[in-house]
Parts: sequence; C-alpha cells; structure tokens
Amino acid sequence: MSSKHLLVGNWKMNLGPKQGSSYARQLRESITALSRTDVWVAPPFASLPIVASELKGSLINVGAQNVHWTESGAFTGETAPSFLTELGATFSLTGHSERRTYFGETSEQVAQRTVAAINAGLTAIACIGETEAERSAGTTEKILETQLNPILSSVAKESVAKLVLAYEPVWAIGTGKVASLDDIRGAHQFIQKVWSAHNLPGTATILYGGSVNPTNFAEILALKEVHGALVGGASIKLDQWMELIRISEATAV
Ligand code: PEP
Repeated sequence: MSSKHLLVGNWKMNLGPKQGSSYARQLRESITALSRTDVWVAPPFASLPIVASELKGSLINVGAQNVHWTESGAFTGETAPSFLTELGATFSLTGHSERRTYFGETSEQVAQRTVAAINAGLTAIACIGETEAERSAGTTEKILETQLNPILSSVAKESVAKLVLAYEPVWAIGTGKVASLDDIRGAHQFIQKVWSAHNLPGTATILYGGSVNPTNFAEILALKEVHGALVGGASIKLDQWMELIRISEATAV
C-alpha cells in the first residue's frame, strides 16, 4: 500500500482530443505540488496520446479505461497493453461496471485483462461492485467474492503491488447516490478478507468509487479502510477535481 491517497479520474467517453488536451493543460498548470496524493487520469483512448504528451513531466499520471489481454491480433476495437506503455500510460482500469454491463465483459475476461496489464508493467485498477438488486437481495459479499476470485487467483504473488482494487457499487456510479460509510467500510473489510484468503502478501489497496464529490469525499477518505477514490463525473470539472485534491491533501494518510 502506498503512503499517499490515490485519486483516479475516469473521464469515461468525455473530453475528446481537443477538449482533453486543453483540460490536461489546465490540470498541469493547477497541480504544482502534491504531498499526500497521487493524481491519475484516464482519458478516452482517442485523447490518450495528446493528454499523455500534455502531462509528460507533470505530477499527474495518465492511464487507460481498459486494456486487452493479448499483445496483437484480430481483436477489432481493442488496445494492447504495450500500445499503452508506448504512449506513456502507467495504468489501466479493468472491469469497470460500464464494461461489464454494456459490453458483456465477464469476471474471467476482467482477470485476463488485469494480468496482461500488470505483465506489461502497468498498474491495473480492477473494479468490482454489486448492483442495487444484488445489495437488496443480501448478496453483496457473494458478488464481490465472485468478481474478485478470478482476479486474485491469476495475479502472481510477486506482482500484487501493481494491483489496485476499486469498490464501486453499481447503483452509486453516476447516480448521485453514495454508499453509506458503514456500507463502504463493510465492503472494503470484506475485500481485505478475500485478499487474505488468497494468501496474498500485505494488504489490498482499495479505492471507493460512486458519486464521489467535494461534499461527501472528506468523510469517505477519513475511513481507514479507504485508500483513495475512483471518480467519474467530478473528475472532468476542474473546480470539483481540484477541490477533491485539496481534501485529499488535507486528510491524513
Ligand atoms: C466511475 O466512473 O468509476 C464513477 C465512480 O463515476 P461517478 O464518480 O460519476 O459516479
């Protein structure tokens, strides 16, 4: 686990190359010193080259929103891990709920993508989380375990430092509904339990994601089980993103 909070902005399918490069320039100019926070952004693929070049040498790391599990081949629309490293990306999300829900990605594929990213030298941020129906049915832990098992059993023990987990309840993503502090604490503690059951070294680095904004972030980040946040909507609004960074800088690690 890092000695800093990790704040990751998922731009989703927003900020194309022109807007993305202009936003990246504003970020570079606004973020000139960080002591308690690692700031990472994941633009859409089309914007990645220009954003990576704009942020080169800055305090901000750039990554992708997804990555394929092979290095080349007949996989129309996909992106190989080495293409990302060549662009200067340092990480990739895997298994975001929008990939699982709208594009049918399975937990096994998410595990394959995660391992390939790590093998290429990227940090993988593997996303897991239950739907509202699954939470109401009392199956949150079962779902988290089912999503985690393929990932935790495929990543090599010596590579786990390159794995970050993001707990993102599906019902809280982009909805304005945020999980309660008890729900977040409980889910993160359960994820650590599954991590230990796999006999992995150390503890998992776990981000919370789901409608994080400047109003709710301080109390979420104050939970000792939470090591940072994966943020969608509030990461593409400069004032809100800068406020999240300010809160992180003001919160003890
Ligand atoms: C996300 O995209 O991972 C996310 C958490 O989005 P939002 O912050 O908009 O809920």
